[in-house]
Amino acid sequence: MAEQSKAESTEQPGKRPILPFLKLEPTPHLVGSKCGKCGAVYLDLKRMACSKCGATNQFTQIPLSNKGNVWVFSVIHQSFPGIKTPYVTAIVDLPEGVSVKSNLVDIDPEELQKNPQQAFGMPVEMVANVVSKDRQGNEVVAFQYRPSKN
Ligand SMILES: [Zn+2]
Repeated sequence: MAEQSKAESTEQPGKRPILPFLKLEPTPHLVGSKCGKCGAVYLDLKRMACSKCGATNQFTQIPLSNKGNVWVFSVIHQSFPGIKTPYVTAIVDLPEGVSVKSNLVDIDPEELQKNPQQAFGMPVEMVANVVSKDRQGNEVVAFQYRPSKN
């Protein structure tokens, strides 16, 4: 078996993605696992078998689009201490056929609740931001979606 290189070696020093399927280089983007037999795409990078066609160990990692459309959303009014509310959480459909759960930013939660129809299907784009620091002093980068500019 070939020796595996350290997963961290390709990441920008001092910055760390909050989830394994968020990559920071060359620009922040998500990656998925694509089934080599039927083309189904999953966010799970350690997937062994395809739930659509049953093929095993035929996955390759592919970059996912930074643009998608809101499928459903929810305005959150109560959260953990220190988390500012209200905020909007959503499931975003990507063109590759993957759905991603994340937060919507640059959007007014109260306005959205008054007029929820505007959100369904809304084109959005991914943004990556530093959200905290870990114990090693690395900046932790998370991703959200905001209404698409075009
Ligand atoms: Zn498959």
